[in-house]
Amino acid sequence: MSEQNLMEKLVSLCKRRGFIFQSSEIYGGINSCYDYGPLGVELKRNIKEAWWNAMVTSRDDIEGLDAAILMHPRVWEASGHVEGFTDPLVDCKKCKRRFRADHIEGDRCPVCGGELTEVRKFNLMFKTYMGPVEEEAAIVYLRPETAQGIYVNFLNVQMASRQKIPFGIAQIGKAFRNEITPGNFIFRTREFEQMEMQFFVKPGTDAEWFEYWKDQRLAWYDQIGIRRSKLRLHQHTPDELAHYASAAYDIEYEFPFGWQELEGIHNRTDFDLKRHMEYSGKDMRYFDQEEGQKYIPYIIETSAGCDRTLLTVLVDAYEEEQLEKDTRVVLHLSPRLAPIKAGIFPLVKRDGMPELAQKIKDRLQGKYRVFYDESGAIGRRYRRMDEAGTPFGITVDSQSLEDETVTIRERDSMQQTRVHISKIEEFMEDKMRTWRRE
Ligand code: ATP
Repeated sequence: MSEQNLMEKLVSLCKRRGFIFQSSEIYGGINSCYDYGPLGVELKRNIKEAWWNAMVTSRDDIEGLDAAILMHPRVWEASGHVEGFTDPLVDCKKCKRRFRADHIEGDRCPVCGGELTEVRKFNLMFKTYMGPVEEEAAIVYLRPETAQGIYVNFLNVQMASRQKIPFGIAQIGKAFRNEITPGNFIFRTREFEQMEMQFFVKPGTDAEWFEYWKDQRLAWYDQIGIRRSKLRLHQHTPDELAHYASAAYDIEYEFPFGWQELEGIHNRTDFDLKRHMEYSGKDMRYFDQEEGQKYIPYIIETSAGCDRTLLTVLVDAYEEEQLEKDTRVVLHLSPRLAPIKAGIFPLVKRDGMPELAQKIKDRLQGKYRVFYDESGAIGRRYRRMDEAGTPFGITVDSQSLEDETVTIRERDSMQQTRVHISKIEEFMEDKMRTWRRE
């Protein structure tokens, strides 16, 4: 299967099965905006849950936050975004297409070969107006990153939670960037969700924490079932570093369109808090009781894209398996992330099988998202679940009516095991705990 083919097949599977739709499709769509359908929204929630669990719930040194998208415009002056959050833009004089200068090779238009304009700086922030008057003074921005909401709340969170340095603040939320060239499906869009954590440390300990978070974050992708062989770390060279960072790693994934950034881990030094202190006139320093002194903490940031993780999860899980008679399309999703945990099927629509299957469904439903299906050949029903990444198929057959057992078919191996009805959850939990991506 060619790489281009894989993306096309994935896009079509996403639409067919209700993972992802083009936004405003009946109006011809809107460029680079996507909607998550019934399976997509479950997958996204599960990814966020896995991240939140690893970063907040399972730790006592990280607190959560949910800050507003609209912030005081001075925030974006202090952060450097008004002045510096730009991409280099060139226009083709002939076909009028626009490109990011650092994304094309040579000095001619990559589409029509026409002459290009000089490079201009294009600010990626979306502007809007707050209140009824559209004037300069009313301009606000849709946040281009969630991080600033954390910085401005640093002392609020610290005091309310009585955390001591080192500690972190985590947030999941929407961010907006008016990207010059969005594309590759949900890889680069203008509206997306970030999962960010800012870890506040004592100056001098930052290099150590930076290494720690690099390792932790890489391990997380393994935990959610991404193949390690498809991941790598890229350390930024001095001329790649953002204005706020003294060191940075990207976690990269090998997409069908090449190695691309999945997450950034940055040592942001004391840049952000220092700037907010300067622009707001408020003291942002932390009082270290043990040291008996005040200082501006250094910040280690881990910044991941939720939509980009979701794309990675899908790309990594997709397989067309050649069987004896045909090809099976299967998503090898981690069971923890799978939108539907089990399909429940009566083998035939009679002899009390549907009733027993419904009873099992009712029992499992409070705990897992499950799907009941009684129509069509059982093989077809299994295949539909394979495509949705559902790890278990529970089938009620004539033997079930005699001895209260069902068969549980596993998605990856297609192996079937007879299990007593009372042991279904135990079986599933055990398999989910020990699942590894082959
Ligand atoms: P690039 O250089 O590719 O534009 P970036 O280095 O500016 O990206 P960061 O600011 O570090 O990206 O953003 C952190 C994370 O947020 C990225 O690793 C990515 O997962 C996600 N992200 C950033 N921009 C987009 C976008 N336009 N669409 C989807 N996800 C994005």
